[in-house]
Amino acid sequence: MQSLLDGFRHFRKEVYPRQRGLFRQLAGGQTPHTLFITCADSRVMPELMFAAQPGELFVYRNIGNVVPPYSQHVSGVVAAIEYAVAVLQVKHIVVCGHTDCGAMKAVLNPDSLREVPNVAAWLKHTDSARQVAAQHDHVGHPEDALHCLTEENVVAQLDHLRTQPVVAARLARGALRIHGWIYDIAHGEIRAFDAEQGRFLPLLPEDGKRAPEATLRPRLVPVLRNVAV
Ligand code: ZN
Repeated sequence: MQSLLDGFRHFRKEVYPRQRGLFRQLAGGQTPHTLFITCADSRVMPELMFAAQPGELFVYRNIGNVVPPYSQHVSGVVAAIEYAVAVLQVKHIVVCGHTDCGAMKAVLNPDSLREVPNVAAWLKHTDSARQVAAQHDHVGHPEDALHCLTEENVVAQLDHLRTQPVVAARLARGALRIHGWIYDIAHGEIRAFDAEQGRFLPLLPEDGKRAPEATLRPRLVPVLRNVAV
């Protein structure tokens, strides 16, 4: 607890005075551009990684960066998605997994979940990722199995994300873009899922190339009128 008190003392003395105007402006409301869904892991710090200011990122964290598919059952993450998209009108949703994820390790070693039945139940939302990952050829290479499951989990959660009605509607008319990333803790790198190529690529591409994106082509593009044919 002492480290939290010391940290808040530092914030009050050094950080807040420098950004007093921003904090007072934000006291009346927020307009974040991105909903950032990531793992609860303490090593993943979105605001630090993206040099984000207060008010920019609407962050939702849970074990395994999971998005349950649409159903009658309400969960915190689904409510957060609905609020971020319909009310805050975010333009982007990122689902971000990471290396050395304890949730992914547990999925690969189900015996470790015997004492934590709620975690085990929550991680059922990774079942499709587990089954797809099992199709990959990495027998005898546990590191590869973890890497593969981590990637397939992000892809599966993006699939689940598309089943949320508010997300589906905005994707259809091109009003929202979605992204699936893996943060490499040791190397400070991010790989992003590219829907066109069906694989993960560096988030920061070589000069002139577009950043990989998980968004599919919108189906309901506005009809251009008064265009000469
Ligand atoms: Zn994790």
